[in-house]
Amino acid sequence: EAFIPKIIEVNYIEGSGDKRWSNKDFPWTKQLEVNNKKVFGNHSFRPNQREVINATMSGCDVFVLMPTGGGKSLTYQLPALICPGITLVISPLVSLIQDQIMHLLQANIPAAYLSANMEWAEQQEILRELNSENCNYKLLYVTPEKIAKSDALLRNLENLHVRGLLARIVIDEAHCVSQWGHDFRPDYQGLGILKQKFPNTPVLALTATATASVKEDVVQALGLELGHNAAFYHGSMDPAQRAFVQKQWSKDEINIICATVAFGMGINKPDVRFIIHHSLPKSIEGYHQECGRAGRDGLLSSCILYYSYSDYIRVKHMISQGAIEQTSMTYGYNRSNMTNSGRILETNIENLLRMVSYCENDVDCRRLLQLAHFGEKFDSSTCQKTCDNCSKITSFIEKDVTEIAKQLVELVKLAGQKVSSSHILEVYRGSLSQMIKKHRHDTLRLHGAGKHLAKGEASRVLHHLVVEDFLVEEVKKSDVYGSVSSILKVNNPKVHNLLLGGQRIILRFPSSIKASKPGKFDFTPAKGSLTSGKQNNTLIDSPAMPQPQVDVKLSAK
Ligand code: ADP
Ligand code: MG
Ligand code: ZN
Repeated sequence: EAFIPKIIEVNYIEGSGDKRWSNKDFPWTKQLEVNNKKVFGNHSFRPNQREVINATMSGCDVFVLMPTGGGKSLTYQLPALICPGITLVISPLVSLIQDQIMHLLQANIPAAYLSANMEWAEQQEILRELNSENCNYKLLYVTPEKIAKSDALLRNLENLHVRGLLARIVIDEAHCVSQWGHDFRPDYQGLGILKQKFPNTPVLALTATATASVKEDVVQALGLELGHNAAFYHGSMDPAQRAFVQKQWSKDEINIICATVAFGMGINKPDVRFIIHHSLPKSIEGYHQECGRAGRDGLLSSCILYYSYSDYIRVKHMISQGAIEQTSMTYGYNRSNMTNSGRILETNIENLLRMVSYCENDVDCRRLLQLAHFGEKFDSSTCQKTCDNCSKITSFIEKDVTEIAKQLVELVKLAGQKVSSSHILEVYRGSLSQMIKKHRHDTLRLHGAGKHLAKGEASRVLHHLVVEDFLVEEVKKSDVYGSVSSILKVNNPKVHNLLLGGQRIILRFPSSIKASKPGKFDFTPAKGSLTSGKQNNTLIDSPAMPQPQVDVKLSAK
């Protein structure tokens, strides 16, 4: 259960609507009841307390709407007492916090608080205790200002988290998050950072006053994931966790899985409706196989690939890094093995380039392209407009782009083989931005030479030159934040023939693009969801192959 970040709403009138939270056979039930009596002196639970506690202890995010005096504090203080680690409580007023701490200390539960108007030395003392090996506190109360303004606190929380000691995050008086609430506190809005930093730590949001729109605001601002059963899966999880997630997935207890390629070997689920690639696959083979997991039951399914040319640079960098690490790890650096790994690297980059070529192609049927890669034939008329290319293109024209290609190659040379592809394109279309101006004298002859071209035409040609190995993207550097840049170089032997005029380059372009009819799945990604942080991406929809009928909606921007 711990891997399902689901929001459970517990409302004082309706409860959560889910009977399983009332169960008395959770592993912690006995401990709850004993401590409720012994430590808190309560004879029983009040309405919904047990349900909230069971849901939060199961790892769910819980939004609790319960009237004042309903007993909200117990729903996190009792879990805090019996869970390993520390519960972080954000509460708006120091006076409320002090009152809570007093009660906790009376019950012999170690708790502390941090607020901005405390003595510096006292704050340091508390932070030191948090960092210590056997930190004593079960609860740490802070004001929202503290989260917003204290990097030291965030670092300490990260430290706790890394050590597996951040048990739970509680937002008391959660309506303060919302502008619609009567008590809006700007610093509450920044609390979304907690879910970003600690996505798997359960959050408990408590309030006595929330209209529907306040609740929605709170859920949104705190980043609680929206009631879907989602889980993640990757290679560095321990085998038990992996098996658990896989089991939940096959039993339909999880509907969305966010995974690396580690997921999927031997997974045969017939009713996978969507396969979404949020990063560039490393080869067409891999992509084909991954897409093949959709629609095994023969019903409509969609495969969507988010692509941007800059992904190529990033993945190329990853592949090169991976190859280096592997060589040094397995063999150490000796000559013969380096050649061996060099060959593997070359093959990997070639596979990647084929994948880029597939993505750059906005003319040919996706099914045809995929099958052609495996040497199979496909009559694209049988695609029935189920791929993005077939559904948008009524006809295409072939265009000789040799002159454009030659100019671009020239430009790369003139720019000294030390600028990026986007820089080349900027100069070519005649941009006058600062950076471009600086290099202008070298490239003056071709500055603006491509300004008459249709949008995207020059980049299409340039990317073609890379895919066909006339030009090479050399990954230049990556900074500490993991960003990667690259420069374009000329592959002289290949380019020689082109420049001498011994070779023509013909590309196909759509001659008319018409908006597609919406398919049966009107799949429009939610604003800011899948594309967040990735700008400039083209959405390429592609059918699962060679599986049955697949419906794909064109979503090109
Ligand atoms: P809220 O935060 O919802 O306004 P509190 O958590 O401050 O409410 O609790 C209000 C009062 O109810 C406190 O005095 C608390 O000790 C008491 N209380 C909470 N749960 C129980 C219970 N299960 N049995 C008896 N008293 C309880
Ligand atoms: Mg309260
Ligand atoms: Zn097609």
